[in-house]
Amino acid sequence: MRKNIVAGNWKMNKTLQEGIILARDLQMALSGKAVNCEVIICPPFIHLASIAAVAGTSIVKIGAQNNADKISGAYTGEVSASMVASTGAQYVILGHSERRAYYGETNAILKEKVKMALVNKLIPIFCIGEILTEREAGKQNKVVETQIRESLFELPVKEFGKIVLAYEPVWAIGTGKTASSAQAQEMHAFIRETIACKYGTVIAEETSILYGGSCNANNAKELFSNPDVDGGLIGGASLSVDTFLPIIEAF
Ligand code: PEP
Repeated sequence: MRKNIVAGNWKMNKTLQEGIILARDLQMALSGKAVNCEVIICPPFIHLASIAAVAGTSIVKIGAQNNADKISGAYTGEVSASMVASTGAQYVILGHSERRAYYGETNAILKEKVKMALVNKLIPIFCIGEILTEREAGKQNKVVETQIRESLFELPVKEFGKIVLAYEPVWAIGTGKTASSAQAQEMHAFIRETIACKYGTVIAEETSILYGGSCNANNAKELFSNPDVDGGLIGGASLSVDTFLPIIEAF
């Protein structure tokens, strides 16, 4: 059975002290509650070890927002997957549209990043999604299929089976504009079908596919009620317990 997951992407927000308080508050808010999904928070690299020490043994799992495409060496400013894993993080967001758009991450670079993550036993939360002009041109399926194929489809089935996917239409990220429930379901079903064609229906059925893009307390329940939507990757609403908790409770 595939997992339902709610993951928070803090992006470049929160000082270390603010991050520790948020992680603690979230952990406290969840303690004693019946939580029906995996809860992950993805703080900036520099907070990972401290937040893993605070929250890592609880119900809250920790993820990074990136890892390098190289093993180690003279790559100033980069953080390797082995470094991420050594903090206690278990997940890593890869291929976020902001990384693709602002830092030139291509499908080929992301293929290497995914390999590094998997070698170091990190679970990639691999983001895919089209920009507005691509959707308006009706090219969203082609764009998403290409992103998946070029970065992931050389993985052996056993390795692919570890990946979590996050469909994030770029036009919905941080814009307050959410994909409709029907648009999300349609794309998630297409993604599952694409996986099934390559790796078979068993793997496709076991792959968690999250929705991301202005998901909040008001729309989470409807989005998550779709048969192929297995949770959410949450940006803005993950920055406070008040807005993140109701999304977790939507399951
Ligand atoms: C994201 O950046 O992954 C995201 C989904 O952001 P937001 O929820 O703020 O749209």
